[in-house]
Amino acid sequence: MQKRRRIVLLFGLGIVLPSLLLGYLAFRGIQNDRALVEKERLEDTRRAADRVTRAVDDAITLVEEALAKTFAYQIEKPSAESASALEKLAAGNPLIEQVFYLKDFKEVRLPLAKLLYVADGSREANSSSPAGLGNSAEIQAAQRLEFQQKDYPGALAGYRQALKHVNDPRLEGLVLNAIARVQRKSGLLKEAVSTYENIVRGHSAIIIPGGMPLGPSASLEICLLSRELKDFAKSLQTSLGLYKSLLGREWTLERAEFDFFVQRAKTLIEEVLAGQPPGLDLAPVRGDFQSLRAEEAEQRNKTERMIAFEQGAAPALEAKLRGGTDETNRSFSRLAFDIGSHSYFVSIVRPTTPPGGASDAAWGIIIDAEQLRENALRPALRDYFPSGETAWAIKGNDGAVLLSSENPPAGPVTLRTSFVSDTPDWNLEFHQPPPRLIRTFLLSRRGLYSFVFLLIAGILVFGLALTIRSVSHELELARMKSDFVSTVSHEFKSPLTSIRQLAEMLQSGRVPSEERRQQYYDVLLEQSERLALLTDNILSLAKIEEGRAEFAFETTDIFALLSSVVSSFQERVRHEGFDIELKAQSPIPLVAVDRTALSQAITNLIDNAIKYSGDSRKVVVGASVEEQFLAIAVRDFGVGINKEDIDRVFERFFRGGDELTRTVKGSGLGLTLVKEIVEAHRGRIQVESEPGKGSVFSIRLPLAQGKGS
Ligand code: ADP
Repeated sequence: MQKRRRIVLLFGLGIVLPSLLLGYLAFRGIQNDRALVEKERLEDTRRAADRVTRAVDDAITLVEEALAKTFAYQIEKPSAESASALEKLAAGNPLIEQVFYLKDFKEVRLPLAKLLYVADGSREANSSSPAGLGNSAEIQAAQRLEFQQKDYPGALAGYRQALKHVNDPRLEGLVLNAIARVQRKSGLLKEAVSTYENIVRGHSAIIIPGGMPLGPSASLEICLLSRELKDFAKSLQTSLGLYKSLLGREWTLERAEFDFFVQRAKTLIEEVLAGQPPGLDLAPVRGDFQSLRAEEAEQRNKTERMIAFEQGAAPALEAKLRGGTDETNRSFSRLAFDIGSHSYFVSIVRPTTPPGGASDAAWGIIIDAEQLRENALRPALRDYFPSGETAWAIKGNDGAVLLSSENPPAGPVTLRTSFVSDTPDWNLEFHQPPPRLIRTFLLSRRGLYSFVFLLIAGILVFGLALTIRSVSHELELARMKSDFVSTVSHEFKSPLTSIRQLAEMLQSGRVPSEERRQQYYDVLLEQSERLALLTDNILSLAKIEEGRAEFAFETTDIFALLSSVVSSFQERVRHEGFDIELKAQSPIPLVAVDRTALSQAITNLIDNAIKYSGDSRKVVVGASVEEQFLAIAVRDFGVGINKEDIDRVFERFFRGGDELTRTVKGSGLGLTLVKEIVEAHRGRIQVESEPGKGSVFSIRLPLAQGKGS
């Protein structure tokens, strides 16, 4: 058991410990490799990110160049000619949200902007405060009749008369308006409607005193009158038409005017719809109304955004332009700024201060940030991060996500970058999952780890096999030893018992006949011989194993040696009826052998032959010369040896057959000793056997026997 502990200890020290150590080293190696892989990938990401930001930069530059090219046409300030060139430019570049002109560093103009309305009080003054109906005597008379005397039929006739002499279309519109008004006052509602329709058709754009066009108010009147006349279809149609025209920018209105008309038109529509006029299909009207409202919201947004720019961008632009030396020597300055809730990103041409000093004006563009993201940033990201392994997100300066990769960004940000310069305040964030340990292990360029792990596995398997083998061998040996002790004690005990009994009988003189006495002597002899043989075997083997055995080789007549062994056996087993035959092919040459040892070997073989004879009573001992060898064979016709045992019969303590069915006593040492002796003579021993038929043990000794060791 101590041995087993030692083996386990050895296994632990020699195999498990080094394996653990190697495993740990390999693990550390993989970790290092992983860190390296991670670093490389980060480097790759950084390079790709640089390319992405450059791609965006390039897209902006492209637009700037297009604007610069437009300037080759010498556009100096907004004009009809420049407008068409700029229109073309904007149409060809989706990144351009608006083109603007900065005059005297103070005033921003948006020549291409399509606004729903202009800021309050900003309508150009040239067409404002037009004269009223003028000072024609006819008109003045009619006005007096209308307002002072409230003589409507008279007033109507007066206006009608005046209309005939008017040849200025503006004045004509105004007179028509007065006619319609009087018609209405005098209850001629249908006539008033048709007069207003007349105005809408032909004089819609006429500006009335105060600066407003005639069209919207005339339309509004038609709606109201039609409703009064219960012509709901016309009322609805006209108010929708007005709403549409307002959104279609038919007139230039200030914000308050626009709001007023839109509000009135919408209220009218809603009121008529709420009244559910019979006989009208209202569904399409509702649909139109819905989409018009959506359009209004969108356009209002854009308009407010542009008005805010128009009114508030100049200081930021001026500061940038006057800021002097830019970090680059590009001819464009880029800047991002906010006005209220609106964010702008613009690029403006820097004045080149020509000699004339006429450079206090500049052209610029507002870049459409969403288009920039969708048409420049997203494709660039898709190109440079195609695998989908790296997730990314673009965030505004308030941290809101503006754009993100298809695979949702998760885990910590591994790289954060912003744009090269003067671009919208966007941050690009990249998320890279750490490389997997197993993947690093498998893909490691050096393949070292696979090798190390194979080595460890190999060592472990080898060690395990070795341990199992030696442990089981030790166990088997231990089992055989304990077997040996019990059988040997038996072996000693039974002959000793019979010797004692027989000796006692002989001593007491109670043996009846001489013949019986003689028998007793035979048995005594045989039993003591067996004891002697057993003792000899044990002692000799112990000597050989300890290396103390000394063989004394003497030239010997083998035939004589065999005869003596055989006859001593014949003597011993005579009473059991055994026939031991010695067959020799003469002449047998003299051979140098250790006589005692060889005799002991032959004795053991014959003893086994007798022991395992079963019912057979015949043993043949043969000697012959075969080429350079002397062959000695001991043959019996007994039980034979099982196939599975035949290779093991020479092992120490090995005893054949099943432990339970074993009847013959023995120690398992006899054949081991025979083999040792034969090998000490440089000979060989062989066995052939067939269960139930008998066995042959043959010894072959070299004839030219030198002095053995
Ligand atoms: P044992 O004391 O058991 O005879 P041995 O070493 O002499 O020990 O023999 C080992 C085993 O070989 C025996 O137990 C027996 O099974 C087998 N054996 C040896 N000689 C013979 C034989 N002549 N016939 C059959 N079996 C034999």
